[in-house]
Amino acid sequence: MAAHSLKALPSSKTSGVATMRPAQATVAIHPELSVLGYAQVQLLDGPFREQFDHNHGLFAGLDDDALLKPFRKRMGMPAPGPDMGGWYDDDTDFNPANNFHSFIAGHSFGQYLSGLSRAYAVTGSRATQEKVHKLVRAYAETVDTAGKFYDDYRLPAYTYDKTSCGLIDAHEFAKDPIALDVHWRATQSVLPHLPEKALNRYEQRSRGYKMISYTWDESYTLPENLFLAYQRSGDARYRDLATRYLEQNYFDPLSENHNVLPFEHAYSHVNAFSSAMQAYLVLGDEKYLRAAKNGLRMVQDQSFATGGWGPDEAFTEPGRGGIAQSLASTHASFETPCGAYGHFKITRYLLRTTKDSRYGDSMERVLYNTIAGAWPIREDGTTFYYSDYNDNGAKKVWYRDKWPCCSGTFPQLTADYGISSYYASADGIYVNLFMPSRVTWMQGSTQATLTQKTDYPKASTTQFDLALAKPETFAMYIRIPEWAGAKTTVSVGGKRVEGEITPGKFLAIQRTWKDGDRVEMDIEQPLRLEAVEPENPNIVALMRGPRALFAMGENPGQATRSQLLAARASGQSADEWIVRGDSSTLVMRPWTSIKDEPYRLYQHV
Ligand SMILES: [Zn+2]
Repeated sequence: MAAHSLKALPSSKTSGVATMRPAQATVAIHPELSVLGYAQVQLLDGPFREQFDHNHGLFAGLDDDALLKPFRKRMGMPAPGPDMGGWYDDDTDFNPANNFHSFIAGHSFGQYLSGLSRAYAVTGSRATQEKVHKLVRAYAETVDTAGKFYDDYRLPAYTYDKTSCGLIDAHEFAKDPIALDVHWRATQSVLPHLPEKALNRYEQRSRGYKMISYTWDESYTLPENLFLAYQRSGDARYRDLATRYLEQNYFDPLSENHNVLPFEHAYSHVNAFSSAMQAYLVLGDEKYLRAAKNGLRMVQDQSFATGGWGPDEAFTEPGRGGIAQSLASTHASFETPCGAYGHFKITRYLLRTTKDSRYGDSMERVLYNTIAGAWPIREDGTTFYYSDYNDNGAKKVWYRDKWPCCSGTFPQLTADYGISSYYASADGIYVNLFMPSRVTWMQGSTQATLTQKTDYPKASTTQFDLALAKPETFAMYIRIPEWAGAKTTVSVGGKRVEGEITPGKFLAIQRTWKDGDRVEMDIEQPLRLEAVEPENPNIVALMRGPRALFAMGENPGQATRSQLLAARASGQSADEWIVRGDSSTLVMRPWTSIKDEPYRLYQHV
């Protein structure tokens, strides 16, 4: 009784008719902190701008026919152009035991479209916008509302969710004239292939299946994009669908603080927290906010020192030493681009809703220790996927198969760096991430620009310069990380800000600002040790500020707690620390300074 129970839905009218005004969506909750437009935050030269530019360039350069090939092929249309390879192809040789070629045909098309749409919104590149419009037009030709594409398709909800995101982003951020229309047809095409409600893997298995891989679908991640489709189109049918696919068996216990995470697939269940947040914002039911907050906290309780989580893509049972065990049992410790993307989204929602700066701390930890040190995607689709925290022989490696899931989330995430860094409130501007960047916004009737210059966290300082059309009274809120040392200082125009600087909170600097004002911050980054989990207090990672330090080499040697905490910078400019043990010297580096050398994250003390 799947989607057949849906009322027959009239096909939507053609868009582009100037007199047609979309209906207005109603949204229950408006967080005090709002997301800025993509164009309002520009990354300046530095590693994050480089990551964004690389992904923008790579996806803008992909062959349109290759991207469209699985869709055309499955529809029996002429399908010219080369195969993309890897997970992306439409073929029949997939075998979960040893061959992931053609795992999910066309799965990441929507994510590439989304990444390009956001990149257009950031840069205003006409060529990128034209590519988005061309891809949407060509994709539209492959969509039939009977859903032929999804006939005998392994993961219909999975691929539709990504396609949905791409199309609503093409509409919202690349001003595509037909994307919303195509989105409705794409929705109709998948409905006959979806279950009547969100199903976890156990429920999918219990319904019988052709191959085990058919039970890996992720219908529980659908609501986020469906709620967004509702807000962007005003079409209440999307709100109703979104509500239908909220996984109550997951959110109900989480909202009551019951940990139902163990053994669940990690990334998709963190991604589902963003569906809970959209449910909270649109419907106003606090249950979903509680579920997202509790769920993320449970994830953080079983995270690595890097902020990564989910060894072998699964959550473990709390209190049983599962994270330490994973240091011996797997090299697939954290699904990096997807996990970081999901983590950024949920911490952005929760930061905006609660104004709790510790969500920003959490985002920052994942930023520097995971995605910032991921290798860039290669033109042939070779992608960095897992971070490896194994105690023996851990190294950065490429993923075996081309164009996996992580090639889809990586360009979306790098396009989101800017909007994750600053948020607007009625009374001012919030600074969350310390990256070289420029944010422009209207404060009252005054155009304001804040330029941030920094080499943080390699350097401890960051500097903000304000440009204002006229003096204006507002607050600048700066995130003071929870780990910040007592020597942390903030000054305006060379004068120390009065009052206490409280780690783990936003520092509010309320004043009448004028053009040319400069704010400087010096964040003390103390060394500290973090145990892998409470049951294993003697397995620790050395942390400095937001970053974990990795012991370099095949067999880095041993050191005591006090020796680790006495680590010294190896030189003024090197991003490297030296630990003198009894019989060995450990060279420690942050994730971003590791190339392909072996390393060890955790030290046994
Ligand atoms: Zn992935």
